[in-house]
Amino acid sequence: MATKRIVQIFCNACWNKKGVEVDAVERLTLGSLRWDLCEEHRDRFGEMLSEVLDIDEPMAISA
Ligand SMILES: [Zn+2]
Repeated sequence: MATKRIVQIFCNACWNKKGVEVDAVERLTLGSLRWDLCEEHRDRFGEMLSEVLDIDEPMAISA
């Protein structure tokens, strides 16, 4: 018999703030810390980080 394990990764921010399970689209690591984020929280965090670091146009990652 074959077994298939399915793992779903949810946004840490949505879970902590609203108690809802929203699929994470990005894993952010900073030193020894890690966050899994949905699209909305990823974008919001990126905007806040750019503001804090005073960077108007962050470098884009080429695909
Ligand atoms: Zn979220």
